Amino acid sequence: MAGARRPGRNFLFVPGPTNVPDRILRAMHVAMEDHRSSDFPKLTLPLYESLKRIFKTRDSQVVIYPSSGTGAWESALTNTCSPGDKLLASRFGQFSHLWIELARRHGLEVVVQEEEWGTGVDPERIEEALREDTNHEIKGVLVVHNETATGVTSDVAAVRRAIDAAGHPALLYVDGVSSIASIDFRFDEWGVDLAITGSQKGLMLPAGLGIVCASQKALAAMKDAKCRRAYFDLADQMKANATGYFPYTPALPLLHGLREALAMLDEEGLDNVFARHRHLADGARAAVRAWGLKLCAKEPKWHSNTVTAILVPHGFNGADVIDRAYRRYNLALGAGLSQVAGKLFRIGHLGDLNELMLLGAISGAEMAMRDVGIDVEFGSGVAAAQAQFQDAAQGRETKVAAE
Ligand code: PLP
Repeated sequence: MAGARRPGRNFLFVPGPTNVPDRILRAMHVAMEDHRSSDFPKLTLPLYESLKRIFKTRDSQVVIYPSSGTGAWESALTNTCSPGDKLLASRFGQFSHLWIELARRHGLEVVVQEEEWGTGVDPERIEEALREDTNHEIKGVLVVHNETATGVTSDVAAVRRAIDAAGHPALLYVDGVSSIASIDFRFDEWGVDLAITGSQKGLMLPAGLGIVCASQKALAAMKDAKCRRAYFDLADQMKANATGYFPYTPALPLLHGLREALAMLDEEGLDNVFARHRHLADGARAAVRAWGLKLCAKEPKWHSNTVTAILVPHGFNGADVIDRAYRRYNLALGAGLSQVAGKLFRIGHLGDLNELMLLGAISGAEMAMRDVGIDVEFGSGVAAAQAQFQDAAQGRETKVAAE
């Protein structure tokens, strides 16, 4: 059809799936092979060790499902809980909401602490609820580390401190789908019991892998857990994984891609990856300030380094900005979900990206906003992000020179 081709690259700035680097695309371009061959464990066994470094754990168990992050949510809960078990969860965005709903569908009772969207987990409230639970009926605390829907990061270490201060034995479950491999995450140090992630964000892969990391305490809880599970049975996975195999056909190209992604993260260095995400997020936030707009995240302590959710002024619809950006500039921005539908648009800045790529997205967002009548000045966001980037680079150089 004439006119249907869209030249140039699509600017993919949704907060997942993220850009898949060419290196990873090439690594995934493999012929299918026998996943029961004697060579297969050479590919798989090192993946678990590398993933443990990403989670920052020594003795926990990592498993890789052919699923998305939602499957990993399900695995974490059904392998450690029994129907009727009580969980404590804070709700402050679409993903914290969906995890709660999934738990309820499995017959779990969830005590929900509602927090304003744009804020995150309140460790004091968690501590209070756990102190009141003198019979230790609450089996676990659910935390979404980075709420992708609102661009809010919560303090997982503070939740661990709250659980310990209450002297409560609850397991700590953490959704790290849009944080792990992009924002600092410390499984062992923070006393996390189950952490989950997916392949399509910080790991720079297509969707298709659901990854779970389980502590020894979580594995002990698995022995009494009566929730029904079949496909997501952790024990089946662990048994097959121990020798480098899977209980069913694995997502082969994705495993090759994962090996490459882990090598790339290793080459850059995890701390540098986190610093890059912080740096880019600072640029995005500088642009928003220059536009005179507000973030959905209410205070700096909630600021996410992987996604910036930007409130559009009253009388405008965020969906129009997104539609214009996509159709006119081939720029994909993230939508407002559920409670914040229409109220915002999101710039995802995680995975494989750099300053100039983000400046392109900021520029496109600026044009799309102008197109729909939002009064932002041409170039204002771009200039603010450029200045932020250069100031930070100069600051770093000055620091190095002084050392
Ligand atoms: N948790 C968070 C924080 C997410 O951002 C997402 C998806 O964007 C999910 C869970 C669900 O993951 P998936 O879509 O891979 O099933």
